[in-house]
Parts: sequence; structure tokens; C-alpha cells
Amino acid sequence: MQCIVLGSGGMMPMPQRRLTSLALRHAGRVYLFDCGEGTQLPYKELHVGLRALTVVATTHLHADHVLGLPGLLMLRAQMPDPPPLTLLGVPGLRRFIEHVRADLGMFINYPIQVIEWSGDPQAPAYRDDQVTIYWQPLDHRVLCLGYRLEEHERPGRFDPAAAARLGVPCGPLWGQLQHGSEVLLSGGAIVRPEQVLGLPRRGRHVAFITDTAPCAGLQPLLRAVDLAFIEGMFAAAEQADADEKRHLTAIQAAQAARRAEARRVILVHLSPRYDAAAAQALGVEAAAHHPLLEVARDGLLVELPLPD
Ligand SMILES: [Zn+2]
Ligand SMILES: [Zn+2]
Repeated sequence: MQCIVLGSGGMMPMPQRRLTSLALRHAGRVYLFDCGEGTQLPYKELHVGLRALTVVATTHLHADHVLGLPGLLMLRAQMPDPPPLTLLGVPGLRRFIEHVRADLGMFINYPIQVIEWSGDPQAPAYRDDQVTIYWQPLDHRVLCLGYRLEEHERPGRFDPAAAARLGVPCGPLWGQLQHGSEVLLSGGAIVRPEQVLGLPRRGRHVAFITDTAPCAGLQPLLRAVDLAFIEGMFAAAEQADADEKRHLTAIQAAQAARRAEARRVILVHLSPRYDAAAAQALGVEAAAHHPLLEVARDGLLVELPLPD
């Protein structure tokens, strides 16, 4: 699983820092989180893979999070027979997409499914044979959603000694058991996978959170994730500004992640007021509150290994 930071800025795209967008690439699919103006540029430059783009999860209807969608949707229509695309977001996303398609006369040659926030944080936003994506409402000036992507559990480790004890000959039957199917031995006995496999092993968990004041929704999203992308919009000196605009300071992001025992934190959605040096200083003040924290830069690629 690869996490690729296409942009790390908030509010407006800057010459030196593009708007926050995260591509999560896994087993032939790309799950994109937020799509601010100009996202198609880093998407192309970093060769993320347009045909693989499967889901675009948007946090809220502010320009710096969705204005890149029309361009990306049109770019995706440049190839023959693109696969269907799923868009996740708040109520109003469907209307935005319908209007922009109609008003701009956009040519789209693939089905687009829009799934809007249901109001139920227990119901997953999206699920396929690899991952489940959960969502939670946050606390911003408009309805804003945070996301948590969970890779499905894998079967437990195969125990060859247990298989031998049960009389399963080494060969294709081992593979069937490893893939969760029971097998029939030549003597008539049935061996079930749970007799030869350890406990299921959890997959990788990643959180994507931006544009929020501290709120209850943060903890379930961040709980023990392997990697959390969280906004670090402001330095602690700008706390009043952060409170008024309903954003997190870098320190508040670090503290929320630590409370939830998130293993690693990467700060995104940095204010355009910070140049590269100031952004690093932001990371230094936040790193005192979380043991494994860094500030994102555009193009950052993180290979996320399995937890075991
Ligand atoms: Zn924003
Ligand atoms: Zn916003």
C-alpha cells in the first residue's frame, strides 16, 4: 500500500505548494481523498494511474477540496472505456457534480456513482473486496467528513505442523485451506481452515482528516491507525484564528492522534502563510506531542507495510 501526497496546502494552490489531496494506491486501485483545484497536475506528474482511480472521497464542499473534480473527471474521460467511478461526500455533492457536468457540457464516458453522507457513522461509506471506508462528521463551518480506510483482515498464519497432524498432504489442499476453504481428505475426513490457521491478521488502517476543530469524531477515525493524515493548518500562536475558522493547530492534531494511539502522523492542509521553513517549525512544535510526526511535502510517497 502506497500513500502519495499530491498536495499539502490549504485554502489556495500556491506555486510551491498544491492543495491537499492524498492518493492511496493498493492492489491495482487508487482511492483519492480530496481533490482541490489543479489536483490533476500532480496526479499526472506522479503517475498515480487514472484507470486505477476507483473512489474519490471528498471531505466537504469548500473550493480547496472539490474544485479539482471537474478537471479530473474530464481527464479520466480521455481514455477508452474507463471503469466506473464512485464519489463520496456530503449532501450537495451530487448536485454540484450534476450542475458542473451540465453547465460545462462535460464529456464523460463512464458511470459515476455519488454516495452522500447518510447520517449514520456506523454504516460504511464504501466497501469493495479489498477495503472498507468509514466516515464521521467533524466540526467545521460547514458539514465536513473525516475518513478512515481499513484494509480487510487477512487469514491467520498457516500452521504446517497442524496440517500434517490432521493428515493433510502437502500440496494444493494446503493452498485451499490457506484461502479459507475446507478440504475433504481421501479417507473421508473434513478439515476446516480454522483448524490449521491462526487468528485473522488485521490489515492496514489509514485516516484522512482535515478542516475541523477538535471534536468527538476524531477519536473513532484515528483509533490505532497505522498512519494518519491530519490537517496542521496553524501554529499554536494562531490558536484564536484556528478556533474562529474551525481548524486544528498542528499541536491539536498531534494531541488528538496521540490520544487515539495513532502510530504515525503526517500533517497536511498547511496555511499558505507558512513557507517551507515555517512549515518545518510547525512540525517541530507538534512533534513534542506525538512520537512519530512529520510535515507533508508535495510528492511525498509512503510505503505502508503490513502491521505484522
Ligand atoms: Zn480547506
Ligand atoms: Zn473548509
